Order: sequence, then structure tokens, then C-alpha cells
Amino acid sequence: MHLPKTFRQISVRRMRQLTEQEIRAAFVNCTKGAAKRLNIPHDLDERPWADLDYFGWRDPQAPDRAYLVTGPDDGPARAVALRCPSPTSWQTRRSMCSICLTTHTGGVSLMVAAKAGKAGQQGNSVGAYLCADLACSLYVRGKRDAGAGGRMPESLTLEEKIRRTVTNLAAFLDKVTA
Ligand SMILES: [Zn+2]
Repeated sequence: MHLPKTFRQISVRRMRQLTEQEIRAAFVNCTKGAAKRLNIPHDLDERPWADLDYFGWRDPQAPDRAYLVTGPDDGPARAVALRCPSPTSWQTRRSMCSICLTTHTGGVSLMVAAKAGKAGQQGNSVGAYLCADLACSLYVRGKRDAGAGGRMPESLTLEEKIRRTVTNLAAFLDKVTA
């Protein structure tokens, strides 16, 4: 059955704006104390929530730290604290984000998440290559330019690309909480 295009556009998921408290409460892989202290951007009101599949940011005071939060459409919001190795290791390499499949020269960073719970306390972690600016949602929607060759020409609809991004991210978060 072919659905009219407008219907398919409406069914694209939207992220709801989260409050600072909701974000802090959503962390699955750090202590409550750490979640209380970590830096959350002050301009949450000005973020493009309607175009986000997840909200991610880098810690302005600690460049090797990044955070992201998903949801809450598909269940409760989930947030993870990430560590990025020294930027010099990826600066000049051309590589692809494993979440949104955008290719950047020097704009993809290996991000490592401690696993949730006991496994994390024992030092277990999972890593993924992500857009270093955590703007996957904007690249997928063509709202941020990744430069020549950044996005493969594909026959997928925007909704399908968004769904793939959400699925890839959920799989990463499932590994963190497994
Ligand atoms: Zn990405």
C-alpha cells in the first residue's frame, strides 16, 4: 500500500525538548553524583529539538568528554557519558559516522562509553564512531553540510534515513546497558 507523501512526513518522529533535570536523571552509565555535576548547555530553549533524533553535546570545559540523550518517544530518555580520545588521532582521517553514515574528513570521533552498572565499574566499555559535533540529526536532514561527498546519494526517504539513524543509536545504547 502506498501512503500519500504528506502522511509519511507527518509520521517522522519528533524529539520533545528535555529539561536539564530530565537529562541529568537519564544517565545510565555514570553515578548520580557525576550526572549532577556534568556540564549541560544553558541554551536548551534554543536547540532545534524538532530536528533532533538525539541531543548531543561536548563538554566545553573538558574537550575529551561528550554526552548524548535520546528519547523520550521510544520509552524513557536515555543519556550516556562518552569519552573521546585526543582529537589529533582523528583530525585528518576521512571516516564515516556509524550512527548517521555521514562521511567527514576529520569530523568523526571514536567515542567510548563505560558500560552501565557493574560491567562499567569493572572497566568494560563500548565504542562507536560518531560525528564529532554530535549533529547526526542535522546531517541526515541536510540542515548541516558535511562537505563534498559527505552524504552518499541514496534512494531512501528522509523518514527512512531518520529511522536508520535512530535504530543505529538505539543499538549502541543497548550495548551500553547490556
Ligand atoms: Zn553522525
